[in-house]
Amino acid sequence: MSVITIERKVLEKNDEIANINRTLLKENRVFTFNLVSSPGSGKTSILEHTVDHLKDKIKLGVIEGDVQTDLDAQRIARHGVPVVQIVTRGGCHLDAPLIRDAINKLDIRNLDVLVIENVGNLVCPANYDLGEEVKVVVISTTEGDDKPLKYPAMFRNASVLIINKIDLLPYVNCNIQELIKNALQINPKLEIFETSCTSGAGIESWCGWIINRASK
Ligand code: MG
Ligand code: ZN
Repeated sequence: MSVITIERKVLEKNDEIANINRTLLKENRVFTFNLVSSPGSGKTSILEHTVDHLKDKIKLGVIEGDVQTDLDAQRIARHGVPVVQIVTRGGCHLDAPLIRDAINKLDIRNLDVLVIENVGNLVCPANYDLGEEVKVVVISTTEGDDKPLKYPAMFRNASVLIINKIDLLPYVNCNIQELIKNALQINPKLEIFETSCTSGAGIESWCGWIINRASK
């Protein structure tokens, strides 16, 4: 029982700071989303394509979360947008205080959109509000079609599902109709995009969604 109490206190404190982050971002009209997935789904590759598509249209900033190394931040920085790397040194999720510190390092008055790339993990990032407006969950076709049933909390809390690596569908054991059915069974409100960072498929309509949300 005491473990549950401690955990709840940690989450309460987290949510308090998340709300401060959200207020600050809203006051500065920065549309913020939290990109979550298991490791290797292609979050950073999607983000690279996204930045290239949008950087001349809107002002983007990126917060990169990784357990170790700043390799992903280096990849994003090459595309010429401001990026802050958070290294959790073993921590398996980002939390609101880390995002508060990262926001302080960005000139948010000059941003339209802030993307937070979370640590690759489909479990606890579902429970940690960072102050984002929406969560976007990425799943790749190489992970099979049953992930939404195995990790329902993440799919329930997300507003958007990106199904990545659709170019690999002929070679992997993934029925995309089944995957979509499973995801919608958990969360009927999910907006779904199908993408490939190899062919560029779906990137345009995904970026259209961002522009639409950012202009609201
Ligand atoms: Mg990454
Ligand atoms: Zn964690």
